[in-house]
Amino acid sequence: MSDDAVGSLYWISGPVVRAHINGQLSMAEQTWVGEERLASEVISVSQDQVTVQVYEKTQGLHVGERLFGSGQPLSVTLGPGLIGSTFDGIQRPLEMIRERTGNFIRRGERVSPLNTERKWPFAPQAEAGAEVEPGTVLGLVSETPLVEHKILVPPGVHGTLKHLAGEGDYTVEEEIAVVQDRQGKERSLTMLQRWPVRQGRPIVERREPTVPLITGQRVIDTLFPIAKGGTAAIPGGFGTGKTVTLHSLAKWSDADIVVYVGCGERGNEMTQVLEEFPELEDPWTGHPLMERTILIANTSNMPVAARESSIYTGLTIAEYYRDQGFDVALMADSTSRWAQALREISGRLGEMPAEEGYPAYLASRLAAFYERAGRVTVLGGEDEGSVTVMGAVSPPGGDFSEPVTRHTQRFTRCFWTLDRDLAHQRHYPAISWRQSYSLYLEQLAEWWRERVEEDWQVLRTAALGILQRQSDLQQIVQLVGPEALADKEQWTLDVARLLREGFLDQNAFHPVDAYTVPEKQIALLNLFMWLHDRGNDLLELGLSIARLREEIDMPHLIRLKEQVPNDEPEQIEDVRQEVGRQLERARDEYRE
Ligand code: ADP
Repeated sequence: MSDDAVGSLYWISGPVVRAHINGQLSMAEQTWVGEERLASEVISVSQDQVTVQVYEKTQGLHVGERLFGSGQPLSVTLGPGLIGSTFDGIQRPLEMIRERTGNFIRRGERVSPLNTERKWPFAPQAEAGAEVEPGTVLGLVSETPLVEHKILVPPGVHGTLKHLAGEGDYTVEEEIAVVQDRQGKERSLTMLQRWPVRQGRPIVERREPTVPLITGQRVIDTLFPIAKGGTAAIPGGFGTGKTVTLHSLAKWSDADIVVYVGCGERGNEMTQVLEEFPELEDPWTGHPLMERTILIANTSNMPVAARESSIYTGLTIAEYYRDQGFDVALMADSTSRWAQALREISGRLGEMPAEEGYPAYLASRLAAFYERAGRVTVLGGEDEGSVTVMGAVSPPGGDFSEPVTRHTQRFTRCFWTLDRDLAHQRHYPAISWRQSYSLYLEQLAEWWRERVEEDWQVLRTAALGILQRQSDLQQIVQLVGPEALADKEQWTLDVARLLREGFLDQNAFHPVDAYTVPEKQIALLNLFMWLHDRGNDLLELGLSIARLREEIDMPHLIRLKEQVPNDEPEQIEDVRQEVGRQLERARDEYRE
């Protein structure tokens, strides 16, 4: 950090300050404000003055204090040690700060984001003398029992590998390689990289999102699936289950790495995340989930500007692991709080407000956020990696026509709408099958064809058809009672109940039900749709609905989701055969 001031403050308004400048400063440059050197960033610059947003509290700051430049854009530090950490919005590690200064982050506190004393076991993967380019793997570091970290040549570095460290233990600041470029200039590399948060990391090309991110959540995987590298929004009013849903996704998704960005409105929302995540277990390995997770936490007592940057900090870390060939899932809870931070800063700047006080650039910021998702070919080879972005949206009063929800809908390809009525009925996850959608169906059909024998799309369409029919029939029932319905219509309602209670409703806290493998999802759906058709056949023969109901043990079928283990989905086929035999007996008796 330089000691040469580039300006002096003349205006302070909460997290935004202005300074007259007498030196060089660029847009998005990281700056330090005042004698306490508060972390900050240039957000507008003119000939002789700048506006800066400050990531720390500005109480007590006064006009005339100095502003310092850094010559660098606001960046994050990338390297081994990220996994398992909890950072604030500008990548200050909460644990380390807490150790040094107690529970509250002291202003102006400077702590390296990564532990610089810890030694990591480095296993070289290249040979001195080789030509290297961005993305070439220099070595491997076992970062946690679940993550093998690849040390890559960073973007922008090409040339001959002059020196590579041998197998051994190194800190992130020790030199591990020297690369000589074509002009003969040598560049020393450590395991650390810096990258500007507001700029996506380079890739070779985007790939089509044709592989689903399997979440184990039946309503998502089967009805409204998301692709690896895809985008999804989870809009829902207070208490409809956004947080529980995101936690389930963090825990169960088949992503290698999870980046969880929490922008809590109230302090305790974030405390809940900070307390809960370290307790969560990775269901696949039994290891702590934190061994493949990074948390970015903003509590309400942190300045709004840090909340604004937290999303970019999270994205950049996600892209860094994507570049190593991992499938990364980024969850943001909630993007509405982030948008509110934009609104507050914009208000301080005296910008012309657009809809509901949000700045006119709200839409472009949301677009830029979701655009950084993708399945890509990474630098340095044929490998692919992905960043899947899922953002909760919490519209005030549950009004989905407000600007953040509306714009988010434009830029995301899955929309998992949480329905207040379902949540009231304690139907969880309260993802509405009427107001949700996925635009990845076509792209994922091939994956399902290869994975399961049944035609996923046909089953899916049939199930949605029955659910739709149920909504229509329900209106009649409310007017004239269920007896007014024809037998076949009553049967449709029965099967719709099976679908709702035995398939869509999924208890995040049940040991078996919390996660369902794709094979079991399809087997359940197949059973219920088959039952629908067989029931209809019998009704057509003249069997009464009352007689048909006698044959069907509804509670048993509804409980299959909890009783059939994930590694024995064929048990559902046994149930189907058993029910089939019973229905045949009923038919034979009826014919006699
Ligand atoms: P939000 O974040 O939208 O305010 P929460 O995620 O905190 O709402 O959910 C509120 C409550 O709903 C939870 O405390 C839990 O009791 C219940 N709930 C939500 N989703 C599920 C689920 N999938 N399984 C079981 N209970 C759930």
